[in-house]
Amino acid sequence: MSLVITSIEAKDIRFPTSKSLDGSDAMHTDPDYSAAYVILETNDTSLEGHGLTFTLGRGNELCVAAINSLSHLLIGKSLEDFTSDMAGFWRMITNDSQLRWVGPKKGIIHMATGAIVNAVWDLYAKSEKKPLWKLISDMSAEQLVSCIDFTYLTDVITSEEAIEMLSKLEATKYQRVDFLFKNGYPAYTTSAGWMGYSEEKIRRLSCDAKNEGWTHLKMKVGGNINEDIRRAQIIREEIGDGVKLMMDANQKWEVDEAIQNMKSLAKFNPWWIEEPTSPDDILGHLAIANAISPIKVATGEHCQNNVMFKQFLKSGAMSICQIDSCRIGGVNEALSIMLMAAKLNIPVCPHAGGVGLCEYVQHLAMIDYISISGSLDNRIIEYVDHLHENFIDPVIINDGNYMPPLKAGYSITMKKSSIDAFTYPSGKMWKIESVMV
Ligand SMILES: [Mg+2]
Repeated sequence: MSLVITSIEAKDIRFPTSKSLDGSDAMHTDPDYSAAYVILETNDTSLEGHGLTFTLGRGNELCVAAINSLSHLLIGKSLEDFTSDMAGFWRMITNDSQLRWVGPKKGIIHMATGAIVNAVWDLYAKSEKKPLWKLISDMSAEQLVSCIDFTYLTDVITSEEAIEMLSKLEATKYQRVDFLFKNGYPAYTTSAGWMGYSEEKIRRLSCDAKNEGWTHLKMKVGGNINEDIRRAQIIREEIGDGVKLMMDANQKWEVDEAIQNMKSLAKFNPWWIEEPTSPDDILGHLAIANAISPIKVATGEHCQNNVMFKQFLKSGAMSICQIDSCRIGGVNEALSIMLMAAKLNIPVCPHAGGVGLCEYVQHLAMIDYISISGSLDNRIIEYVDHLHENFIDPVIINDGNYMPPLKAGYSITMKKSSIDAFTYPSGKMWKIESVMV
């Protein structure tokens, strides 16, 4: 019996994280971590596909509406219609002749695409009874490359080149799988460095992070520069010189301001500065990278699509590539970006945190290591200790490393009790919030 998608449900789920300032940074001062959550129902009642795109609260309803607008492209189709030609599936969903006008491949419609595409991959992995990372790393070089649409990318990489590149790694693939089962994939924590935390809390969390074995820690910057210096000083005092420190300005600065401020913060020896300025400013990032070397420039969580990534990667404006699992259009597009980064020898360090992003990106980073770049050099996944309890298959961290997920799917299925309680505005957690305000 072929598996047919019979309906698509899109849910508006929001967590009231703004109350504790978890996730606060220079630009996003009061986020309510939220998910536009997709459920693909099928003719097999025991098998559903799940996906989400992450937002900060207000506007989540726009992603839900965009998911509903895309759903006619899937309903009534069989999973095999898509899996027999994954690149064709992605071209189809990103090229609807009317919907593409509100993109193409950018903004809300593309975030909604990410949620749906990821739900299809989740369904595919569940139907094959494998975790997503295993489903894709078991593919031959030809099969993996056949999942990627190379439109507008061929000046950097062609499918033939990609097959040649990945074929070289095939013989040693399962050694890397063994390595992951033994050691996990290295992670860093952002939990200590949120902008809204008090000095005492930053000091305590930095000390805890070091004691828990974290070797890399990220802090938010982009507030008053003297306060950024003060917070960096506290963190360095607590973590010592042996722990790498990264900084994230969340797009706050002008280009010249970024250069000036990073010269003031250089004494704390940051490994990278993340999103120093507008996420669309390729030339600005390049100017910053040239001025503050050897500090690296990291960006990507707000980079809209693989054509933008191509330009950042090719020009030298991005020395750490921070793919996001659902701002771009899901797994297929993530694979294309990881391929370009591998060819240009730029490490991929996925953006996570949020809700569900850690669950998602662990799969992508493991695929990168096993099948695409074959390397862990300067590669590390973000980790934030928020909201994992809402997922059926939450991430497992051992001594600062992500352990390979074992359950079938993309690890993004939320518990039904969480979906019910945090559905906005009718869920019981939001009813309690409105009574308390
Ligand atoms: Mg960031």
